[in-house]
Amino acid sequence: MKNKVYQPATISEALDLTNSEKDFIFIAGGTDVIVNSKQGNAVADVMIDINGIEELKQFTVRENYLEIGTGITLGDISRDNRIAELFPALREAAISVATPVIRETATVGGNILCENRCNFYNQSEWWREAVGYCLKCNGDICIVTGGNRRCFSKFISDTAVAMIGYNAEITIVQSAGEKIIPLIDLYTGDGINPFRKEKESIIKNIILPTDKNFRSEFRKLRPRRSLDFTSLTSVVTIDSNGIIRIALGGVDPMPILITGSVNDNLDFLIQNAVKKPRVIDNDYYPRRYRKQMIEHFVSTSLNNLLKI
Ligand SMILES: Cc1cc2nc3c(=O)[nH]c(=O)nc-3n(C[C@H](O)[C@H](O)[C@H](O)COP(=O)(O)OP(=O)(O)OC[C@H]3O[C@@H](n4cnc5c(N)ncnc54)[C@H](O)[C@@H]3O)c2cc1C
Repeated sequence: MKNKVYQPATISEALDLTNSEKDFIFIAGGTDVIVNSKQGNAVADVMIDINGIEELKQFTVRENYLEIGTGITLGDISRDNRIAELFPALREAAISVATPVIRETATVGGNILCENRCNFYNQSEWWREAVGYCLKCNGDICIVTGGNRRCFSKFISDTAVAMIGYNAEITIVQSAGEKIIPLIDLYTGDGINPFRKEKESIIKNIILPTDKNFRSEFRKLRPRRSLDFTSLTSVVTIDSNGIIRIALGGVDPMPILITGSVNDNLDFLIQNAVKKPRVIDNDYYPRRYRKQMIEHFVSTSLNNLLKI
């Protein structure tokens, strides 16, 4: 159980708390943190609740960019007209997350930092103890792969995949100052520590280019459309310069990005998208089927967008 909860009103107050507290976790909507902590997977003495920070809740229109505050809920993303017009795959991704009630609480910042998932990790304490704990729960080996010493828990954020398709950047704030990095660079590819970010840092906003005239398509595979996490998310975009971006989620410990151009051999791009993800059998659907579905999703989206 958590002992203490702080509710800072500004980013700088939140950062000050990270200097005085050691064992803390940020909480925004709590729809991932609370579930993980109930399962014994995200335990910290202190919660720093950043939900009251107004600076994180702004949509800001700049010349050629839209900045989306990370504290904005997925419900608000799905209702925003600019997003519907300029970034329809992001709107669809937001609508595809969880249930309507959860989307009114879940934030886009929490979504891009949502913990990786695996059938052997997202279980109760007694279940994980009974199978001998996997690598992500301080065990010795990956149980799914039968002894691997690397963790392949899957990256599941749907909005991150969409925003990577739109070439998004993020602003990271810490006591030393701010930096802007491509969203794709936030991810390490290591299932145990999936995020390349200091624990003490806050992601302030996500920056999306508004001058690229993207065409885009979003697709998601899962057993039940009403609720389930992704087994495969794909977003294909083509910008005004003919740059193709294929972004995938749910099939590797990090989001996968393949870039090319409308002049490239499209079969080659599709095969790259099939080969690059390290898909393992840690999902409802078998590995082979998910690989086949990558090919199906990406080729269908390319056909639709290019009207081949
Ligand atoms: C039943 C159910 C179904 C779900 N289905 C899906 C799904 O289909 N697709 C999907 O993508 N997700 C799904 N989720 C996961 C989750 O609801 C979403 O990812 C949600 O967007 C997380 O946002 P949050 O604000 O609740 O994050 P929280 O739980 O508050 O935080 C998540 C993580 O982000 C960190 N964090 C949050 N904001 C910041 C910030 N600004 N700066 C630094 N760190 C921050 C927290 O410290 C924590 O580590 C589901 C969850 C449930 C319970």
